[in-house]
Amino acid sequence: MPISTERADSGVTAARAVVRGEVQGVGYRDATRRRARRLGVTGWVRNGEDGEVLVHAEGPERAVEELLAFVRDGPPSARVSEVAIDRVKVEGHEQFAIRGVSAGAFVVQEHAATAHHFDLRLEVDGVMRSWAVPKGPSMDPAVKRLAVEVEDHAIAHNAFEGPTGGGGVIVWDRGRYEQGGRVAWPQALERGHAVFVLHGEKLRGGFALQRTHSGEKPQSLLIKRRDEDARPGSDVVAELPRSVLSGRTLDQLLRDD
Ligand code: MN
Repeated sequence: MPISTERADSGVTAARAVVRGEVQGVGYRDATRRRARRLGVTGWVRNGEDGEVLVHAEGPERAVEELLAFVRDGPPSARVSEVAIDRVKVEGHEQFAIRGVSAGAFVVQEHAATAHHFDLRLEVDGVMRSWAVPKGPSMDPAVKRLAVEVEDHAIAHNAFEGPTGGGGVIVWDRGRYEQGGRVAWPQALERGHAVFVLHGEKLRGGFALQRTHSGEKPQSLLIKRRDEDARPGSDVVAELPRSVLSGRTLDQLLRDD
């Protein structure tokens, strides 16, 4: 089977492979990532929904071809029955990542304080990186929500719900998330363009945090990415106001406690 890749002027080519056979649950993704990193190939590998493995590979043509040769055999524990390879556009990846694997916990807490806001927190290297989002997240890709970086919180705080001095907090959403995008974390956060996939009860699919102002209080925009989970025209904060822990709204908590 000829290997068809796209040759860019830079000498960087990109290919995508669909690998069928006994390829899930046999260390195929780990082995492919190790080989790709050794070869200097970037992109990703992930499990498909029908037992297949998908590989996106880009880099110098010879290195990509070497990785595709590896992909055809897989690690000794795999039995590859069929590989389909397509030429694709070079996307500019800076890492070779395993996609579809949880990077940790995320939580969104609704917080009545001096100013009402939502706190988006993502687990990164053992702490919860945090952004205060005054209007809360949106599932509408056309809506850009201000997100102000605030201090890290402890993971133990994720389950906190209750009154605070003069206000209160509810756990508005929570779940796991995946790192996305072409740049490795946490560098993507430091550079101010971080893409991630949320698996929450309310928030699902791809989101981006795009920094707009640096300095002492860096500001970003939180934007829903256009994918199958996007809900144009929706207002998830208004539609689903209740705590995912207790079923209470923040107003009920403030009244009752
Ligand atoms: Mn807060």
